[in-house]
Amino acid sequence: MNTTAPQCTLFVVAAPSGAGKSTLVNALLEREPAISLSISHTTRPPRPGEQYGRHYYFVERDAFEQEIADGIFLEHAEVHGNLYGTSRNTVDTLLAEGRDVLLEIDWQGARQIRKSKPDCVSVFILPPSRAELERRLRGRGSDSAEVIARRLHNSREEIAHAHEFDYIIVNDNFDDALGDLQSIVRAVRQRSGLQWKRHEALIQELLA
Ligand code: 5GP
Repeated sequence: MNTTAPQCTLFVVAAPSGAGKSTLVNALLEREPAISLSISHTTRPPRPGEQYGRHYYFVERDAFEQEIADGIFLEHAEVHGNLYGTSRNTVDTLLAEGRDVLLEIDWQGARQIRKSKPDCVSVFILPPSRAELERRLRGRGSDSAEVIARRLHNSREEIAHAHEFDYIIVNDNFDDALGDLQSIVRAVRQRSGLQWKRHEALIQELLA
């Protein structure tokens, strides 16, 4: 059953680690408070400062595998050796409440979402160069050299799927990239299919 309210949109944002996706998304959410971020479940251990329920629901692998078996995930994937998943219930509840929802997930998850929610709008964030991607990954300071090397290695696979997304943004200048992301959100909201339903009363009145 598709419980999606007609007035709201599911946004999917992906990027290789280090492209600046989370910073961009957090800035977007400040500018667009009507969008809710879906908090994922993961088996990755928390980084310093990360909180349960705010950044992720951190769970043991056994528990995650049980959740997969219970069918609680709208999508799930193994990324950089850890499991990540989006709760079906969280997304459907928010959409049914009439809120736009944003998922920060990888290309494998995005592919699954496109199948189950074909009306979703997907955006891929690219870094401006390989050297800058590496610099940003090292600059984060919270990951080991091994984790950084693995993420750099995996970035090629992630980037190779960028063409599957509706939009691509190059995050060179942060303010420009944020403006681009916000423009996409704004343009999607003005689409006539959504506007026609949202402004039904107005249109009825204008046609009377
Ligand atoms: P990080 O460990 O740096 O927070 O995230 C690593 C990667 O996992 C990122 O590409 C991120 O988008 C992806 N990821 C985070 N949550 C999910 C999720 O729920 N599903 C999927 N498929 N990927 C996720």
